[in-house]
Amino acid sequence: MSVTQQQVLEKLAGVTSPRGVALTNANVLSPITVSDGKVFFSINVDAAEARAWESVRAQAESAVRAIPGVTAAMIALTAERKPGTAAPPQPHRHGGIAPASTHRPPQGAPSPMSRQAEIPGIAAVIAVASGKGGVGKSTTALNLALGLRDLGLRVGLLDADIYGPSVPRLTGIREKPALNDDKKMIPISRFGLSIMSIGFLVEEDTAMIWRGPMVMSAITQMLRDVAWGTLDVLVVDMPPGTGDAQLTLAQNVPLKGAVIISTPQDLSLIDARRGLAMFRKVNVPVLGIVENMSYFQCPHCGTRSDIFGHGGARHEAERLGVPFLGEIPLHMAIRTTSDSGNPVVDSEPDGPHAAIYRAIGTKVRDQLRGVIAAA
Ligand code: ADP
Repeated sequence: MSVTQQQVLEKLAGVTSPRGVALTNANVLSPITVSDGKVFFSINVDAAEARAWESVRAQAESAVRAIPGVTAAMIALTAERKPGTAAPPQPHRHGGIAPASTHRPPQGAPSPMSRQAEIPGIAAVIAVASGKGGVGKSTTALNLALGLRDLGLRVGLLDADIYGPSVPRLTGIREKPALNDDKKMIPISRFGLSIMSIGFLVEEDTAMIWRGPMVMSAITQMLRDVAWGTLDVLVVDMPPGTGDAQLTLAQNVPLKGAVIISTPQDLSLIDARRGLAMFRKVNVPVLGIVENMSYFQCPHCGTRSDIFGHGGARHEAERLGVPFLGEIPLHMAIRTTSDSGNPVVDSEPDGPHAAIYRAIGTKVRDQLRGVIAAA
């Protein structure tokens, strides 16, 4: 049975907007795309009203999903309208637009960042990325999130590394998220963070073979169909690498900035440069580079050995004109605490490693201060 735009509009007419009129009369709907049972559109409202509209978005999504023949519905709430302006006009029947997730900005919008809908309630989404796997990206993402928590911020962590979600291991979380009344997943609360990972939903040993579009749709669901509540910062642990999946993600997530993790070896610095280029391409500000496993620190005597030379990432950051955020030693305590689900910033809060992550968090927070304050 093929679904029509008319059916969608009829369903939406039954949803009441915060303005007291039917959603279809509230002058907020983008054109509606219906293709193969998949329905996409956006609800465009003023930033100041966004919170009041979130439950309407969810109701609209459930209403559309209830139409027989609808296999997927993605409805984005975009809060980029200037007060008093109208939503774009509806096209003629069968007229299509890009899916809501690629909602186009108004003419003359300053950067592609405004193309993605902000997530109501979250002041800043930041990515933690690396040019390749195994450099300690996830360990750094979690400890950075905890460092930001220690600065008094409300922080969430989204494990978007869906090829190898390590957040369940790093946090020791085994339970599955529950659903709230709006059918949104409630993130798991641990260490004072709101945490979500695809690893909470699928068995650890499930082979995960994802193709580009599936990656994006899984991550979009985790970003937008999770009841994050009010957050100052949502740290996104990105999939490693700089391929198409990562580029699409960087393009489609409303990122306020990116932190790049590198190890000191030359090769990894080359990979880090690729990461930098990727974020620049999509106009996401690079908040800086972190050098992980920067030097070896003996767990017994504390002696420092610069196994891979020293200062590579700092020089590289200077040369490329991005902030250098800090050096994290290769230390047994970081590995054992991470791998046992007790991240070092939480389990050894007065130790030297926690201080390093907090210092990195401070540099990140300082760059986001305006965004967080504005929210
Ligand atoms: P990635 O996310 O880049 O694949 P992980 O964060 O999973 O990397 O880290 C890979 C391994 O390295 C893990 O066993 C982790 O505990 C360890 N590790 C990460 N950073 C450090 C560090 N600074 N010192 C010691 N071990 C580390």
